Amino acid sequence: MSLEGKTAIVTGSTSGIGLGIIRGLAESGADVILNSFTDTAQDYALAEGIAKEFNVSARYVSADMGDGQACRGLIADVGRCDILVNNAGIQHVALTEDFPVEKWNAIIAINMNSNFHTTRLALPGMKRKNWGRIINLASVHGLVASAQKSAYVAAKHGIVGLTKVTALETAQTGVTCNAICPGWFPSEMTQGMDDESSMNFMRANSPLPRMGELHELDGALLLLASDAASFMIGQHVVVDGGWTAR
Ligand code: NAD
Repeated sequence: MSLEGKTAIVTGSTSGIGLGIIRGLAESGADVILNSFTDTAQDYALAEGIAKEFNVSARYVSADMGDGQACRGLIADVGRCDILVNNAGIQHVALTEDFPVEKWNAIIAINMNSNFHTTRLALPGMKRKNWGRIINLASVHGLVASAQKSAYVAAKHGIVGLTKVTALETAQTGVTCNAICPGWFPSEMTQGMDDESSMNFMRANSPLPRMGELHELDGALLLLASDAASFMIGQHVVVDGGWTAR
């Protein structure tokens, strides 16, 4: 599935799943835009390394996905967006009654509102070209819940809903919008969650009792990004080792 000639923007893509997605898209020939809010020399070097490794154009653009104006700035600055992957995300774990309000606001802003802002800005250009792919990184927590993750679960369920609305509104164009719902993957967010008690929990609860490997998201990603998915409208593809199949 060649993505040559396409430009892909992946929000929050300097580590973990986002970086895995950048690598998958670049390997398929897409030019890629990496993003995070950090703006360090390392971020620019990462983009340079991707360009060299996959022989594509790769650029790092700093923008805080917690800030609506910066989300819109990212899309406007890049100027061309054939594939938009809304991936930036953070986590905080606490009982609802103890959940810090600023953490709630930050998670809703970064994990959910950013998808609205980037999608809103990317859609007109995609519609003009009559081709576009919007892929929202939801989670199994867009479908089921865990205690102590009120903001995260609310944001991810919100993304699944937003995906469907965007898909309905673009159904009669060459633009599609779908979501990916990963289970447990190694990243900065899940760092430290491979301790013995987490692993025991996984062994007891997951049909395939291990973390996913980042390349195991490539199948869903590249399908949704390609022409092969032209009849997939507003769906969520679950890649979770069977976690939600129980
Ligand atoms: P991660 O912490 O490794 O990556 C998050 C990325 O988002 C980083 O590049 C970080 O710099 C960026 N980011 C954070 N705040 C930002 C901001 N304000 N503006 C711009 N960029 C920002 O975590 P990850 O696990 O790879 O998470 C990526 C996505 O995958 C998230 O949406 C997460 O909810 C989702 N997800 C992860 C898992 C998992 O098990 N790792 C499972 C399901 C869904």
